[in-house]
Amino acid sequence: MPEFRWDPITGRSVIIAAGRSKRPRLHGAGNGQARGEPCPFCPGNEALTPPEIWALREHHSAADKPGWTVRVVPNKYPALEDHGALTVKRDSFYESLNGLGIHEVIIESPDHEINMGALNIDQCADILRAYRARMRAVGDDPRWRYLLLYKNQGERAGATLEHVHSQLIVLPIVPQSAADELTSAKKHYDSTGHCIFCEIVQREVERGERLVSQSDKFIAFCPFAPRFSYEAWILPKNHVAAFEQSTDEDIAALAQFVRDFISRLNRALDRPPFNYVIYSKPPHQSTTRYYHWRIEILPQIARAAGFEWGSGMYMNSVAPEEAARLLRDAAL
Ligand SMILES: [Zn+2]
Ligand SMILES: [Zn+2]
Repeated sequence: MPEFRWDPITGRSVIIAAGRSKRPRLHGAGNGQARGEPCPFCPGNEALTPPEIWALREHHSAADKPGWTVRVVPNKYPALEDHGALTVKRDSFYESLNGLGIHEVIIESPDHEINMGALNIDQCADILRAYRARMRAVGDDPRWRYLLLYKNQGERAGATLEHVHSQLIVLPIVPQSAADELTSAKKHYDSTGHCIFCEIVQREVERGERLVSQSDKFIAFCPFAPRFSYEAWILPKNHVAAFEQSTDEDIAALAQFVRDFISRLNRALDRPPFNYVIYSKPPHQSTTRYYHWRIEILPQIARAAGFEWGSGMYMNSVAPEEAARLLRDAAL
């Protein structure tokens, strides 16, 4: 069973998930399935994954058979497992918690595509619908305190299978970075009466120097203090705390907006490896007034190294104003 552990000095948490070392690895520079193995995410190979939890399927097609457009399955090598009760273990100053949680994989297309930029807008909307459906479903369970939806695109960004997919990790605790963000957003709201994210959106639209693109509903910009070169955030312009609250109309507009952003990234930087993460209001928290969901897109061009690990501070060689200019000019 995996385990959460806390460093007794800094309070930093880690998940010890020894079973994950059995995962297959990509060979070469992201251009091959684990050598000679069939792709477990391609139609016809459904038996190679655990049974599906959710899918968008053609009428009358059976579960775990072809006929799907997006398919959600448990991660075969989960970082967390959903059995047993949450139990804290203490051994003097060492504290741990059994690794209770959920780890799902969202298979984003029946086609063996390796880059999200190759998918059409309807497929992107189906993927976002799958995210919304799963986040709503797990968010109803009172045991879960935090949902993290993320994508690793490319081997260098941590993908171990190349077929387009993303993952949902559901935690029984709120990670420290998320707790810090919530505390800071609340403090701003308590002292000004405004959502800090709404204020950032307004400021970035007015100034324009870090703006990449905008529509009636969304904005993409490079944040003021980005950790990664070409890091960008996508936020709804209206105040919405949870991604799961998105309407069908929002999802359709977001699909178009995200797809446009990925195309810009691919064009400007020649299909870089990247991660994206959806930050949404944690379930069962009354943070709706001051939290505002967003997607962070984090290209992995330079590796974090000694300085970053040593200081917890990031060194970024591309100013966000310059990054935004390049991404703005990469419009079709
Ligand atoms: Zn495949
Ligand atoms: Zn807001």
